[in-house]
Amino acid sequence: MSQASDSRDPVHSDAPVQADPLSSVTGWRFTNPFTESLPGDANEHNGRRQVHGAAYSFVSPAKVDEPRLVAHSREVAEMLDLGSEAASDPLFVEVMAGNHVLEGSEPFAMAYAGHQFGNWAGQLGDGRAISLGEVSTHLAGTQMLQLKGAGPTPYSRTADGLAVLRSSIREFLCSEAMHHLRIPTTRALSLVTTGEYVARDMFYDGNVQMEPGAIVCRVSPTFVRFGSFELPASRHDVGLLRKIAVHTITQHFPHLLDGSGSASPAQIGPDQYLAWFVEVRDRTARLMAEWMRVGFVHGVMNTDNMSILGETIDYGPYGWIDDFDPNWTPNTTDFSHRRYRFAQQPQVAHWNLMQFANAIFPLVDDVERVTAALDGYVDVYQSHWRSAVQAKLGLGEELPGDAELADTCFSLLQRVETDMTIFFRALGSAALDAAIGESRAIADVMGPAIYRPEEWSRDDVEATVSWIELWHERVSSTGREPAERRASMNASNPKFVLRNHLAQVAIDKAHEGDFSEVERLLELVRHPYDEQPGMDEYASKRPEWARTRAGCSTLSCSS
Ligand code: AMP
Ligand code: MG
Repeated sequence: MSQASDSRDPVHSDAPVQADPLSSVTGWRFTNPFTESLPGDANEHNGRRQVHGAAYSFVSPAKVDEPRLVAHSREVAEMLDLGSEAASDPLFVEVMAGNHVLEGSEPFAMAYAGHQFGNWAGQLGDGRAISLGEVSTHLAGTQMLQLKGAGPTPYSRTADGLAVLRSSIREFLCSEAMHHLRIPTTRALSLVTTGEYVARDMFYDGNVQMEPGAIVCRVSPTFVRFGSFELPASRHDVGLLRKIAVHTITQHFPHLLDGSGSASPAQIGPDQYLAWFVEVRDRTARLMAEWMRVGFVHGVMNTDNMSILGETIDYGPYGWIDDFDPNWTPNTTDFSHRRYRFAQQPQVAHWNLMQFANAIFPLVDDVERVTAALDGYVDVYQSHWRSAVQAKLGLGEELPGDAELADTCFSLLQRVETDMTIFFRALGSAALDAAIGESRAIADVMGPAIYRPEEWSRDDVEATVSWIELWHERVSSTGREPAERRASMNASNPKFVLRNHLAQVAIDKAHEGDFSEVERLLELVRHPYDEQPGMDEYASKRPEWARTRAGCSTLSCSS
């Protein structure tokens, strides 16, 4: 059973027309609606500065010495109409490294602002991401291509505009892992090493190292963020704010217009802006429930890292929960306040939506309606989360008592150090049994998921076993066949996630010039819900060495 080919995947859907695949990126047709319809920066020099009255600045990617394509995603290539040979074309790597600009591509960096760690940070913008433009595809509409780490832009502030290999591998693999988990995300087409070295002080402690440089080509219909609206709003530039909103709605939310999506911008008024806000709210709420479902911690949920499409965007110091610890954050920059810890992500998204609501407020200009729409987030999130938990536990339609059953489960997971992913997957197998007793509950469910069995007291054992028995009784009452129960639970409980230590092993090997583990992980994450016989070591508990190793348990924003 492959859960990966879901109906939202344009590549696998019942696509209407499939044109011949392109043998080279030279066949791409750039339409560039973002730069065509929005005002750009009149100053065309890459120099760092405040940019006013513009949504973007045209920039040229920096040229690199020795670009090498070390990995690419075939699904993303297909989504972009490329045939299987297109990535072997020498021009492909030149384009993905920013060395060659294709005809029709007019590279630019977006202007945006943001709240970082709860504080207003003013203008940020694409400091090291350069968009090549928007390609019109047969299967996936218009897709924006963006090179992350392709050199400085007017928005680079004091930084170098570059990216290092370790963070680029993490972004490349995690984008694809998320997609196959059926979670909205920006995609990654390619991973290129530049042949150049970049200075990084990984933990901001004066220990500067030279690290290999790399560039990821990210792909999404748009990279517009909450911060894209906060920038003009902060400058009281309502004209520009409206233009970016109109562009975003007509291009990416056309169903909110007259049904045909053909309404003229003049027809977009307060009702449409409010409906748009509500949809962004709903998509964001769903995204949060999805992150919580699989144990993903973003790590830097600043408003400049919140996609207007409700996609996961900007993979920096993210991490995956191994043991279920609601307070865990991988981000060392956030250790003192833990603002972006696992369990707080839904609330942070709500706070970020409030900043977004404030920014677009002049377009709606109705305190009561905006406040009501913002307040509605809590119920929408709760409803997504409740259904995710019902599915994880195999319970189907919610009955009285289910919420308490789930709450008890989550508190038991914290009582002793328990691996979240392994626990839920094991529960799925236990759903096959006609009955479950103490020894099965311990041997098959808790045993494989517990990190320190020696710390397990008799009370812990009893509480856990009685919960498993209670759950088993409830799951058996659904009337579903055991095999069906397990299949449905497995579809919500991945066996394979991109555990922090797995990515780190791939990074260590890549630093020695061996990219085979990157390839293996890319293959692995394509089918996260499948059993994948022979790959069990990739589904096992975090090894002890990874408990404290940098890159596994701790990551910084330095990338
Ligand atoms: P982040 O929190 O990583 O999404 O980045 C916050 C801001 O810093 C964004 O405006 C980035 O474009 C910018 N930034 C991060 N790293 C660099 C870099 N190496 N060079 C230039 N700008 C950067
Ligand atoms: Mg960012």
